[in-house]
Amino acid sequence: MQVTGFQDAKTAKDIPFLPSFLTPDSQPQMPSQQTTLANSIRCRGIALHSGIVVDLELRPAPADTGICFLRTDKPGTPAFPVRADTIVDTQLSTVVAWEKDPSVRVATIEHLMAALSALCIDNAVIAVSGPEMPVLDGSSAEFCFLIQCAGTKTLDAARRTIEILRPVRVEDESGAFAELRPSHSGLALAISLSFSAQAIGSQRYAVQLSPERFLNELAFCRTFVNRSDIEHLQSIGLARGGSLDNAIVVDDEKILNPAGLRIEREFARHKLLDAVGDLYCAGRRIQGGFIGHKSGHRINNLLLRAVFADQRNWRLQPIPSVQSAKTMQQPSYVAA
Ligand SMILES: [Zn+2]
Repeated sequence: MQVTGFQDAKTAKDIPFLPSFLTPDSQPQMPSQQTTLANSIRCRGIALHSGIVVDLELRPAPADTGICFLRTDKPGTPAFPVRADTIVDTQLSTVVAWEKDPSVRVATIEHLMAALSALCIDNAVIAVSGPEMPVLDGSSAEFCFLIQCAGTKTLDAARRTIEILRPVRVEDESGAFAELRPSHSGLALAISLSFSAQAIGSQRYAVQLSPERFLNELAFCRTFVNRSDIEHLQSIGLARGGSLDNAIVVDDEKILNPAGLRIEREFARHKLLDAVGDLYCAGRRIQGGFIGHKSGHRINNLLLRAVFADQRNWRLQPIPSVQSAKTMQQPSYVAA
C-alpha cells in the first residue's frame, strides 16, 4: 500500500474519468446547524456474518457527540466514537471498536453510516445488542426509513465539516486507489469498478451527495457477493445470515436473485454508498471530492488515515473559535 500526498498527486489525466463535480455548480445547501434525531427508534434484524438476531436502537445525542456506538449486551462499557482511528477491521465490512478494549466492537456499520451522512444526522448514539449491525435488506434503504421515521432535530450549535485542502491519494499494487481532493462545496464522489463476473463487468457512477440524490439513486442499492465466495465464507463461519433477501448473488453472467437488479449499475452505486459510509467514519462530513477505483473499505479507511496524518491536508470548516473548540468533547454514555 502506497500513500502519496500533494507532491505526488497524479494529474486529472490519470483518473479513469473526470467527474463533473470539480466544477462549482450544483452545490447542495447543507444545514448550518448541527442535527440529531428527534426521537429514538428501534428495529431487529439478522447480522450478515454471525447470523444472530440483534436489536438496534438509534438514539438522539447532544451537539458535538458525533456518531457513537454502544454495546447494550456489554454492561458497563461506554458509547465509543466512530473515527478513522477507531476502525479496527475492514476485511469484509467496516468494524468500529472501543479504543480501550477492541473486543467491544460493532461490525458492518457502513450502510447505517452512509444513511446518517446522507440525511445529515451529525449526532446519534447507535445502541446494538451484539457485535454486528443487522444487515436488513443489504442496502441503506431501511436505515434511511428509520431515520426519517425518527425525524430530525436541529441543535443550537454550528455544524462543522472537514474541508480537504490538498489532494491525498492511497493506492495498492493491484491498481486500486482512492483519492480525496479539494472541492468547492459538499461531498462529491465518483467510483469505478471492474469485476471478472460478466454480470458486473466494468461500471462507474458519480454523484454530488445530497439527501435527495442519495435516496433516489443510491440508498436502495444492495451489497453483492459471488456465488463461489459464499461457500468459502460460510466454511470459515461467515455470511451465516446472508441470503437472497439481503445481497445480490452473482454467478458469472447470472444474477441469482429472482427479481434481478433493482436498478442499472446497482453494483457501482452500492460501492459508492459504501464510500459515503466509510468517509463518514472521519467523524464529521467531509467537504471534498472523492475518486475511487476498485476501492473498498480497506482503502477508504487508509485514505482517511492518510488525510489526518498531516495537518496540512485538512481543516475544520467553519474554523471553530478557541472558546467553542474547548467545549468540544466526547460525552460518556454507559450501557445499562
Ligand atoms: Zn456495502
